[in-house]
Amino acid sequence: MCAQEKNPVHDTSHITYQSLLDGNEEFIKHALNSDPDFFKKLAIQNPPVLWIGCADSRVPANQITNTNPGEIFVHRNIANMVIHTDMNMLSVLDYAVNVLRVEHVIVTGHYGCGGVVAAMSNKEFGLIDNWLRHIKDVYRIHADELDAIKDENERTNRLVELNVVENVYNLCKTSIVQNAWKNGQELSVHGWVYSISTGKITDMNVSTSNNDKLDDVFKFK
Ligand code: ZN
Repeated sequence: MCAQEKNPVHDTSHITYQSLLDGNEEFIKHALNSDPDFFKKLAIQNPPVLWIGCADSRVPANQITNTNPGEIFVHRNIANMVIHTDMNMLSVLDYAVNVLRVEHVIVTGHYGCGGVVAAMSNKEFGLIDNWLRHIKDVYRIHADELDAIKDENERTNRLVELNVVENVYNLCKTSIVQNAWKNGQELSVHGWVYSISTGKITDMNVSTSNNDKLDDVFKFK
């Protein structure tokens, strides 16, 4: 908490409804300056990557990977969850895999994630408690490891990492990924954690393009 209080706060007071529209004019100017065909080239999208990330305003997929419009298909929710009854996520995943034919799906979490912090507490937050319950399930699976970590920040950050890993596996278990692999489609899934304090992405080394890491019961054969 103390460390947080010492940090300078990002001033957003210049962001207004009108400033966003003015910013759009600037964006158009810069884009056309760099390439007069910038918008013509985006008539059809052809992104090779689907990003499943946290809704946190500090973790924008394009900026932190130095990519441009048209290069990453993005789905974001609180704490970058892959939940098997989430029609929004499943629809994005289905479109990305079966229509856009992306080659990579990346689940990206971030250290200090507010959703993970909230899930670790015993407080009530309202409707979102039902969403956070899925993170509590990740805690339950890894309780022995997590309970052994005395420092609260360290424990939170380890849960952030484990939450990414479990959601990569959740992704593999979806009917969409299972069918893609069963049909021989080239599709790799990955798990990353981003550090807001340094800007650095850490690969969780759980990348896979087949069923090898899954329990048998989840595999489509
Ligand atoms: Zn977050």
